[in-house]
Amino acid sequence: MSNDNNSIHDFDFNLICEYFSALERQGPGSKEVTLQALAFTGVRGDDARIADIGCGTGGQTLFLAENTPGQITAIDLFPGFIDILNRNAANAGLNRRIKGVVGNMESLPFGDEELDLIWSEGAIYNIGYRRGLREWFRFLKPGGYIAVTEASWFTETRPEEIEKFWNDAYPEIDTISAKVAQMQEAGFIPAAHFILPECCWTENFYLLQKTIQPEFLKKHAGNKMAEYLVVNERHEASLYAQYKNWYGYVFYIGMKPKNSHP
Ligand code: SAH
Repeated sequence: MSNDNNSIHDFDFNLICEYFSALERQGPGSKEVTLQALAFTGVRGDDARIADIGCGTGGQTLFLAENTPGQITAIDLFPGFIDILNRNAANAGLNRRIKGVVGNMESLPFGDEELDLIWSEGAIYNIGYRRGLREWFRFLKPGGYIAVTEASWFTETRPEEIEKFWNDAYPEIDTISAKVAQMQEAGFIPAAHFILPECCWTENFYLLQKTIQPEFLKKHAGNKMAEYLVVNERHEASLYAQYKNWYGYVFYIGMKPKNSHP
């Protein structure tokens, strides 16, 4: 989902929710990438506590549950997404391990040093990467991990059109080295980072959107908001195709130092 100032805030949230509910994911990613990031974390034991923040309809939440022990609390602002997540978890027999709750990442319902792992794919931008890392730090046990994906520049300079687009949409976008430094400044040991492959954006995100757009437009024929939403997503997809050598999502994985306290 985009955080573009010209787009998402102007839309009817229900319309956005309906559009993105039709997709398994609401942001770029893949099972392979989730697994790769998970390999850098050390979650063990059935009593492990995991939070998936900005979980959307929970594509990655169910996959996380299949590949980790313990309990996952999945949090999203949109009740419609949480309903879908809880339904899918029940259908997959994972409802004892996954609890989807409506909540705000700015006021999370956890205590200090409660969590072994904080997960957040394509969502931390909503609070801002630096603020999210700093505020969520205290919820982790010493030795616990955080794994987030975040839009990042691949190079020091880039064409003006894409620079302008991102500076409007998410001015906190920065280079990979800057993001790693910010993770360290927030108190974490930067454990690993890697760029998400292009298929996470193309096949798994924009191409899937293409398959649902005709039906969505048909259902909302004449609705300017619906048309604008689709035009906007198509614009983002075309920008990605044109400028993918300059930006992308990066998985950043950090460990809370074992001798650290909130
Ligand atoms: N993690 C999912 C969804 C990413 S889209 C995936 O990768 O597919 C970003 C999600 O963040 C959306 O589901 C949106 O509803 C949620 N979100 C936005 N602002 C939020 C907030 N303040 N608190 C919690 N969730 C929020």
